[in-house]
Amino acid sequence: MDTEILLGLLRQEGWEVAAAPEAANLLLVNTCGFIQAAAQEAVDTILELARYKEADPGKRLVVTGCLVQRYGPDLAAQMPEVDLFVGVNDFPRLPQILQAAAADEARLFCAAPPFDYAAPQPRYPATPRSFAYLKIAEGCSHRCTYCTIPGIRGPLRPRPLATLLAEAQALVVSGVKELNLVAQDTTAYPGLPELLRELGGIQSLEWIRLLYAHPARITRELLETMAGQPQICPYLDLPIQHGHDEMLRRMGRGYSRRQILATCRLIREFLPRAALRTTVMVGFPGETEEHLAALCELIAEVRFEHLGVFIYSPEEGAPAARLTPPVPRRLARQRARIIKTLQAQIVKARQKSLKGTIQPVLVEGVSAESEHLLAGRLITQAPEIDGQVFITAGDVRIGEIQPVLITRALPYDLVGEVVDGRAKKELTTKTQRSPRTTKK
Ligand code: SF4
Repeated sequence: MDTEILLGLLRQEGWEVAAAPEAANLLLVNTCGFIQAAAQEAVDTILELARYKEADPGKRLVVTGCLVQRYGPDLAAQMPEVDLFVGVNDFPRLPQILQAAAADEARLFCAAPPFDYAAPQPRYPATPRSFAYLKIAEGCSHRCTYCTIPGIRGPLRPRPLATLLAEAQALVVSGVKELNLVAQDTTAYPGLPELLRELGGIQSLEWIRLLYAHPARITRELLETMAGQPQICPYLDLPIQHGHDEMLRRMGRGYSRRQILATCRLIREFLPRAALRTTVMVGFPGETEEHLAALCELIAEVRFEHLGVFIYSPEEGAPAARLTPPVPRRLARQRARIIKTLQAQIVKARQKSLKGTIQPVLVEGVSAESEHLLAGRLITQAPEIDGQVFITAGDVRIGEIQPVLITRALPYDLVGEVVDGRAKKELTTKTQRSPRTTKK
């Protein structure tokens, strides 16, 4: 979303988005630097764009984002080819910095007080028109031992309710049907149920999805609100990270295995059709086979509909970097494979159960997999992280929610055809319809 705001701010100042780096006067890299893999990817991108500047020295190369906030002085010393480095708190001032920098020698800007996103921000959409992200808070006040985000992004700063409603309204007017609420921890937002109720009152907003919820902060009030608002997707993204108490304690997550199980049971009770997504981390220092077995047991018990597995990597400045004993990389990779295999078995049965049913699908447009296929998503599939539905036939209307007959179940994705009213009626008898319907 920061990239969309950056582009929105620049467009306000008269800049246009170029189709290719060759055509651009300004080469802008918005970086992520939370983990080493992302930092390396960002450095590779900067070096790649630096070649365009080498070929045309009139271009300006500007780097923004977390990598700058984390390593700004080192980067400025080591990358003379970059004209400006702008940290996460200074990026809203980028248009002014660009102007001033023409007459100034300063190259590094990452000292301003934390940006609070209090006012509605201009956005240049980087996602299909059908969905958008809505950042409800910036920063994080948790202290997970492996994480550098609080140090980079600062403490939690919730955005005002009125700002969020104005931004959401503007997105819906521009054609957005689905809003995905994001923050480092969305459940840390004070008055989250109220925010959800208010968003639910926006005309033509069809789906509202809550991402990045903290397992220790799922309340009955939140679940009641979710169950009572037809636009709120029956979906919760609950990154548990591990299933053994000792690992959870070492990670500083602030909850136990018992709490995870109780929370998941409560969610299933309030939202029986909900899809649960989680992420887990293997290879954390001190993780044993016994810890892994406990994690597998928990995954098998909860049967998450979507699960991502990450391998721990020590981050400079994070307390966990000092923990021992380290788990060898090869062993951590093996453990990740065990989790993936287990999850594939869980998903297989659910995917098969969808075959032959008619499901509402938000049609997004041409699939990233093939230009000959259109793709969309079920209400239980979040954009960019879960599977999708490839649409092979029917009267397709991009940007709309349409009934799709699921004809094939792939390991993570589905294949289907848009069905019209008549066909839909004929097929209803063999369809397990969800009790949730989309608002028309
Ligand atoms: S809740 Fe998320 S962002 Fe906050 S410290 Fe923990 S892992 Fe980092």
